[in-house]
Formats: sequence, structure tokens, C-alpha cells
Amino acid sequence: MHDVTLIPGDGTGPELCAVVKNVVAATGVQIRWDQVEAGVDIMKTAGTPLPDNVLESCRRTKVSLKGPITTPIGTGFRSVNVALRKELDLFACIRPCKSYPGVKSRFENIDLVIVRENTEDLYAGVEFAGGSAEAKTIESLAKGKIRPGSAISIKPMSREGCERIVRTAFDYAVKHKRRKVTAVTKANIMKFTDGLFYEVAREVAKGYEGKIDYEERLVDNMCMQLVQKPELYDVIVLPNLYGDILSDLCAGLVGGLGVAPGANLGDKGALFEAVHGSAPKYAGQNKVNPTALLLSAVLLLEHVKEFDAAKRMHQAIVDVIAEGKTVTYDLGGKAGTREMGEAICAKLKAGVAR
Ligand code: NAD
Repeated sequence: MHDVTLIPGDGTGPELCAVVKNVVAATGVQIRWDQVEAGVDIMKTAGTPLPDNVLESCRRTKVSLKGPITTPIGTGFRSVNVALRKELDLFACIRPCKSYPGVKSRFENIDLVIVRENTEDLYAGVEFAGGSAEAKTIESLAKGKIRPGSAISIKPMSREGCERIVRTAFDYAVKHKRRKVTAVTKANIMKFTDGLFYEVAREVAKGYEGKIDYEERLVDNMCMQLVQKPELYDVIVLPNLYGDILSDLCAGLVGGLGVAPGANLGDKGALFEAVHGSAPKYAGQNKVNPTALLLSAVLLLEHVKEFDAAKRMHQAIVDVIAEGKTVTYDLGGKAGTREMGEAICAKLKAGVAR
């Protein structure tokens, strides 16, 4: 029996999570779900989109599955998704991007994994408005390199932050029998910050010599190579900003948001979620594709070492998509979220999935 926190989220989140619960149950794995509410719906009664009991549960169970959560624009609330990653120190975001027969895409046979740093870099939130006292202080330190009155964002990168993300990428590569890690930065321009990332990555790579290959690419060149020769790459590790951008690029390579799963990992816990958002225009319509959240749950099962169930669940999803009879609109079908989930459950129960 595993204790897992379930955050259904808002928008299409609750209907997607209901499907995931049924499919996981059909694998036979025993999970005691601790369901807690976060997002715009609970905000109306709790006064906050992230009540304390959500974090308490995530910290207690150390493993969480989360539906998407809307970030309301202009209400002053920061993103619950970002807050969760920050509060739980989930420093690594892992996004496997794999082609599946039956999912339309310009590319075939893609099998890439993005490992993105989640806490530092230009996303650390250290920004100063143009003309502020802080911006003026930095301007004076920059000795003429900053145009007066500029708004300024700071890009902090620590040795510790670089080391733990690169190590996560190499450990992932070993665990999942991958062959190579590619570190991606713009170190030719940002010699201290991105330069540190490479310096640390080279040190970490030495510890895996003979097991996992290591190489480096500049981010602009990497974007071009990914759309020209994606088969050359395997596990890709990046600082926060480049990681955010390349995650979406790679999701696009495999047919879009409906099939892109994600895992957020830290030393003290893990949270699994789809890459896509809450798709509020489809909320309650039994329309959206459950695949991304289902594949995130497959990653969760692997994380709790239920490898056989993870494999069977993955194969059942792949088979239903390949058959194309009971799939959602974005995969060219007419099935609803629930019906696609039921088809996957049926495969699992029939033991058809290998
Ligand atoms: P979105 O991912 O919700 O939707 C983008 C497009 O993709 C829409 O056209 C939608 O219809 C489609 N889509 C998304 N998921 C799908 C699925 N499972 N099946 C089929 N089609 C799907 O992105 P958005 O509209 O930019 O964001 C909506 C809200 O979600 C925003 O408030 C945003 O902040 C939030 N968001 C949350 C997360 C998260 O919870 N981690 C991630 C991204 C965005």
C-alpha cells in the first residue's frame, strides 16, 4: 500500500484525476489517496488557492499527483504550481518526450528526456523596476554596460544548484538505461553563470565515465539540431529558462501537450503532473485527453518502484492510442475523457497489455 497525495486541481483537472485513479486501480497497485484541494475553486471558501493542508499532505506522503491548476491573471495570486515546487524544493523537472504510433506529429521515433533546473536562473524572481534604487545600484556597478533606467532581472546560479540538477540527469540516465547526457547553455556569452553550469557538469560527468557519455551544446544550436536531427539526443540537462523553452519544443516534436507527462523531483519528495494547463474552456465537458496525466502516473508508479504495473499501464495506454478507436478529439477520435480511460482500464483488466 502506498500513501499518495492527490490534488485534483481545477478546470479539467478533477475529471482527468478521476480517470487516473480508475486506471491506476486497474493495475492492481494499492494506493491510499489523500485527496486535498488547491486552485481557484477552493480559493472561494478557503481564501487561498494553496491551503496549508495541501503542503502538509505532500510533505507527509512525499509522493503527489496533481491535476492542472489555473493561474488567475491580475488577482495578485502567484502560480500555485510554482509555489508548490518552491515550497517542496522540487528542484528538478523531468519531461520525457516520446513518439507514440497514433499521435500525429511531424516527427517519428522521438525519445528524449528533458531535465530542467527548477529553482534558480532568471526565474528566481529577483527583478528590479527601471529607475528603482536597486536598479540604480546595479547600474552603477555595471560601469556603463546598462542603459540608464533599464529594468533588471538577475540570473543567480549556484554550484550546489548546478550540481544537484546535473547529478539528477546522470542518475536518471543510469536508472533508465540511457546512453548520453547533453548539457545545454549559452556559456559562450554568459561565462560565469552558464560557464559554472558547464564546469560543474564536466566534474559530475567524470563520475559516470564509461557508463554515460557526456557532451555540450549551445542552446541556439540545440534548437536547430532538435528539429533537424532529434535522434542524436537522449537526456538533455538545462538551467531553468532554457529548460522551460526546450520542454515545450520537445513536447511539440511528439505531438503536443495532450501526451506530455512531467515529474518534479526533490530530495524530500516528488510531484507528478501533466505539462498542459487546466484547459478551462473544456472544464466539465468530458472532452480532454487524459494521456499526459496518465503517463505522469506511470512515472509515479516507477518512482514508488511498482515497475511491473508501470509497464503494463504504459502499454495499455500505448495500445489504446495505436488502435485509435477510443481516443479523444485531439488524437482524431470521438471518445470522451472517461471513455478513453475505460478503454485503458479494459485493456489492463483483460491482461492484453504486456
Ligand atoms: P492549456 O494547456 O490549459 O491549454 C492550451 C491548449 O491546449 C488549449 O487549446 C487546450 O484546449 C489544449 N489542451 C490542454 N490540455 C489538453 C488535453 N489534456 N487534451 C486536449 N487538449 C488539451 O494552457 P493555457 O490555456 O495557456 O492555460 C490555462 C491555465 O492553466 C492557465 O491559468 C495557466 O496558468 C494554467 N497552467 C497550469 C499548469 C499546471 O498546472 N502545471 C501548466 C500550464 C498552464
